[in-house]
Amino acid sequence: MSKILYRDPQITVFQSAIYQTNTTVVRTDDLVLVVDPAWLPDEVYAIRQYVDSIREGRALFLVFTHSDFDHIIGYGAFKADKVFATELMAENPAQNAILEQINDFDQQYYIHRPYPVEYPMVDFKVYRDGVQYRHESTKLSFYLAPGHTADSMMVVVWHLGLCIAGDYLSNIEFPIIQHSSVEYVNTLEKLPRIHDRNWFTRLIPGHGDPALTITDWLRRRTESLAYIYAIRESVATGRPFDTHSLWERYCFPRQQIKDHEANLALVQREYEQGLWTWDPDNLPTVPEPVPLGETSQ
Ligand SMILES: [Zn+2]
Repeated sequence: MSKILYRDPQITVFQSAIYQTNTTVVRTDDLVLVVDPAWLPDEVYAIRQYVDSIREGRALFLVFTHSDFDHIIGYGAFKADKVFATELMAENPAQNAILEQINDFDQQYYIHRPYPVEYPMVDFKVYRDGVQYRHESTKLSFYLAPGHTADSMMVVVWHLGLCIAGDYLSNIEFPIIQHSSVEYVNTLEKLPRIHDRNWFTRLIPGHGDPALTITDWLRRRTESLAYIYAIRESVATGRPFDTHSLWERYCFPRQQIKDHEANLALVQREYEQGLWTWDPDNLPTVPEPVPLGETSQ
């Protein structure tokens, strides 16, 4: 059963027992926003019941940060007024394969879902950075965040100082680079600029604990960049990656070793394709936390 991980008068974060996956529910004066409802039927049902209890006639918006199956698994349990995702996610040609991953999971664990398993029908397609959507007095800003997947995005809820980041900046998993390390680094480098334009303090990752201060999410950003540069260094120099310190930092090595090895293989392919270079005389530096408000626009 999911637990409530964080709550304030407007924000509730439900966390699934599986992979510590977060579902964020936001209530403003004008709407209820549900981001990535997941995982097990009872968990999704509890979120749905909670949403019904706080709605009181408000519009219901669903946001999907990306198309990984664990993030869209609860879609069919909600009847939303509007669904938000990137254009790439809306048009993802792998939709059937993603639904099959849900069916495989449900078959494996003998799970019946009392709602249809469907791929989200997207009404509002985010195709560029900084797209805004206003509903009465609530304003949302969307940013493309490729790297983990090609179709990832982040959403900022204005007035609440809240960024919902999808599968970035987790405190329990290192970057899982399914798409591109180059794009992943670009997305991480963009975050202080997103902050300067929208001003958020709290950031909720797809898995793990919310970062409740600017210092916390900046530290996670530095850790993520350091991990990616360490993989690149290992690939470019042929020196083995220091997995010992990786597993001192992250607690689920039996699962995460597969993600780490997939990262190494992807970054190796990128290196062979010349998508990034490694110059021993000009090594990348992991940024000190940027003085916010002073980043280039
Ligand atoms: Zn995920």
